[in-house]
Amino acid sequence: MSAIILETRGLTKTFGGLKAVNDVSLQVGECEVHAIIGPNGAGKSTMVNLLSGHLPPCDGQIIFKGQDITGTSPNRISHLGVGRSFQRTNIFPTFTCMDNCWLAAQSRLKNSFRFFRRSESYAAVRERAERGLELCGLSAKRDVIAGSMSYGEQRQLEIGMVLATEPSFLLLDEPMAGMGKDESSRVVELLANLARSYSLVLVEHDMDAVFSIADKLTVMVNGQMLASGPLEQVRNDPAVQEAYLGD
Ligand code: ADP
Ligand code: MG
Repeated sequence: MSAIILETRGLTKTFGGLKAVNDVSLQVGECEVHAIIGPNGAGKSTMVNLLSGHLPPCDGQIIFKGQDITGTSPNRISHLGVGRSFQRTNIFPTFTCMDNCWLAAQSRLKNSFRFFRRSESYAAVRERAERGLELCGLSAKRDVIAGSMSYGEQRQLEIGMVLATEPSFLLLDEPMAGMGKDESSRVVELLANLARSYSLVLVEHDMDAVFSIADKLTVMVNGQMLASGPLEQVRNDPAVQEAYLGD
């Protein structure tokens, strides 16, 4: 079994009287694709927001590489190597692909506003941006205006932007949402490649995609974790079959 990179213990988030995430404990191993599935409103995006620091939990803990990061700011969590995408695209449509990756790479750089580090920073940012573009498979489109590309390519670029921050851990919230079959199979391929060197939490509706790339699966319903563990085990769990997957 691979080493545990990220772990939540009893993670809970309430909005008023609503328990959006209720006592969720899961573990993500090194270079593992951990998919989170569940119906709309199950608490999947809230989980991602908790893991990335965009929301503070009401209870529970988040442990990343052995360090308790509960309540840590999104900026700090990003510097620790956790990169995330959002459910909606987050690109700058009037900028080129390269410029989008450049901006993402810049956002990761420590002390980026310090003038005396400028030349060193320039090379580092450039390298990160190039790498992000390459890893997401859009090197050939580096000078193309992002908004002129297909929706699928824009989502691909968004993954490139996350990669340009040089993360070791990826949180992707529905990266294939709204894509056609061809586009989503390209992203599945991309994610399968990334899984060789990154740990990944993937929120996804597309079950074919999940079953083809996930190693572990967490099923959420109404904020609660119905099951979590190796893909086949969770897939065949009678409670999961009944409540979510059907037959
Ligand atoms: P999913 O991503 O699984 O569709 P979400 O995590 O977005 O679900 O939402 C879980 C529940 O929490 C939903 O009932 C949603 O309306 C509620 N919720 C999410 N974010 C907020 C918020 N910022 N304020 C109040 N309620 C929220
Ligand atoms: Mg969501």
